[in-house]
Amino acid sequence: MKEKINVLFISSEIAPFAKTGGLADVCGTLPYYLAKEGVNIRLMMPYYGFIDQEKYNIDPLPILKLSVHIGNTPIEFQLYQGLLTDDAIRIYFIRNDAYYHRESIYVNPENGRDWEDNVERFVLLSKAALEIIQHIEFVPDIIHVNDWQTGLLPLYLSEHYKQQAPYTHIKTLMSIHNIAYQGIFEIEKFEQLGLPAIYLKFGSGLEFWGRLNFLKAGIVYADLLNTVSKTYAQEIQKSEEFGYGLEGILAERKNDLYGILNGMDNSEWDPRIDEHIHVNYDVSSIERKKENKRYLLKTINMNDNDHYPLIGLISRLVDQKGIDLIQDRINELLELNIKMIILGTGEEKYHRFFQKVQQTYPDKVAVFLEFNNKLAHQIEAGSDMFLMPSKYEPCGLNQMYSLRYGTVPIVRETGGLADTVKDFDPITKKGNGFVFSQYDSKELLSTVKRAIRYFQKPDVWKIIMENGMSTDFSWNRSAIEYIKLYNKMLEVS
Ligand code: ADP
Repeated sequence: MKEKINVLFISSEIAPFAKTGGLADVCGTLPYYLAKEGVNIRLMMPYYGFIDQEKYNIDPLPILKLSVHIGNTPIEFQLYQGLLTDDAIRIYFIRNDAYYHRESIYVNPENGRDWEDNVERFVLLSKAALEIIQHIEFVPDIIHVNDWQTGLLPLYLSEHYKQQAPYTHIKTLMSIHNIAYQGIFEIEKFEQLGLPAIYLKFGSGLEFWGRLNFLKAGIVYADLLNTVSKTYAQEIQKSEEFGYGLEGILAERKNDLYGILNGMDNSEWDPRIDEHIHVNYDVSSIERKKENKRYLLKTINMNDNDHYPLIGLISRLVDQKGIDLIQDRINELLELNIKMIILGTGEEKYHRFFQKVQQTYPDKVAVFLEFNNKLAHQIEAGSDMFLMPSKYEPCGLNQMYSLRYGTVPIVRETGGLADTVKDFDPITKKGNGFVFSQYDSKELLSTVKRAIRYFQKPDVWKIIMENGMSTDFSWNRSAIEYIKLYNKMLEVS
C-alpha cells in the first residue's frame, strides 16, 4: 500500500464555485475527507464567468503558453489556482474565456438549449487536465474523473499520453453519478476530438448508435469504475431501464465496477444544531420532534392533529422521482388520515397537478412549488414520514436526511434508497423505514397504509425512528471506501 497517494480530481462542477446539482456537492465534499485520510489531492475545473475571483482568492499561475488542440486549432488557456474552502486543498481553474466565460454551465439561458460548443468545451477540460501535469510539479498516481464531462480523459490518456513520462504510471477512476446523463453528440463533431478514425467505427469505445458518447469513453478506458451506491452499480448493468443503453459495456466491466454510497453533510443536516428548525433534538430527546411538527403545521396554517401522520416530500418534480405514482393514487392517499406537505420544482405537468391537489384538499395538503432550503429543513424536522418513491435513484440524499431527523422514509427499493432504507420487521424490530419493490402505485398506497398502522403504535414507531437516527452516513466512511479503490488500482500496476 502506498504511503501517500497523489490524486488529481476533475469535475465540471465543484461546490461552492459552481453547482447545478448533486455532482457539485459530492465533488466539493469528498476531496476534503480524502485529504483528511491522508490523500494528497488536488482538484481541477473550468473557470466559469460567474466564479468570484476575489471572494475565493483565485490567482493566476505564472505559466506561459499553455495550449491544447481542439480539432486542428491550437487553443490557449491559462491556469489559475485557489483553495477548496479554507482547507489547504489546491484547486486549479482552467481559464479560456471564449469557452467558459459564461453565466451558465451547460445551457444557453437565452434559448434553454445546451451550448452548441459543449464538445469543444469538455474536450478542452480533459486535454488541459492532462497537459498541466507537465507544469505543476505534481504527478498524480490517479486521475479521478466524474461523469460524462470528463469521460474523454481516460481515452486521451491511453491514446496520446500514456507512452511518455510523466504519464506512464497514471491510473484513472471514473465515477458515475447519474447514468442518464451521458454527453451524447452528433458524429459531425468527431473532428474536434483529434482522434484517429478508428474511434468512429461501430463498436469503438466512443461510438454509440452512430453518435459520440463521452461517458461510454470513460467507462471503456478508465482503469476502474464506480457509482454512488452498490445497488445502482448492479442495476445499471442489468437492463436498459437503468443503464440507458450502456448496460452492455458495464456488464462487460462488471469486475471493475464498484458502488460507494455518498455521505451526507452532517454539519448542514443535524437536528441537534440545525438553525433552521424550531426546536433542536436528538435521539435521546426524540419527543421534542413533535414541537417541530406543531410549529410547521402552524406556519402553514394547518390544523394540528397528532393522530394524523404528516408526510413530507421534497423533490425535483421530474419523472425520475416517481411523482406519477403519487399522481395515480392521490385521491386514495388523501382520503387516508394523513396530512401532506410538498416542496419541489420541476416539470410544468407536476406543478399543475400539485396546484390542483392543493385546491381540492386544502385541509390535508400544503404545496410549495419553489426552492426553499429553510423550509426543506423544517419539513425534515416536522414530518413524521418522508415519501420518496423514485423510479431510479443513484444515491439520494433526502432519505438520509430523513433518517437522521427521525422522519421515517417510505421508499421504493432502488439504487441508494435500497442501500440505506431497510423495511421494518416487527419481529426482530430491525429496519428504519418502509420499502416497496415494484414500480407500482398500488404498492405505494399499501406501503403508506402499512406505515400508518405502525405510526398508530407509538412505542413501535419510536423504535423505527431510533433505528434511523442511529444510522451512519458520514463522508468519512465513503472516503475510506474510495481509498481502498485507489489502492486497488495501484496494486495491479
Ligand atoms: P437529486 O440530486 O436527484 O435532486 P437528492 O435527494 O440526492 O436528489 O438531493 C436533492 C437535494 O436537493 C436535497 O438536498 C434536497 O433537500 C434538495 N432539494 C430538492 N428540491 C428542493 C426544494 N424545492 N427546496 C429545497 N431543497 C430542495
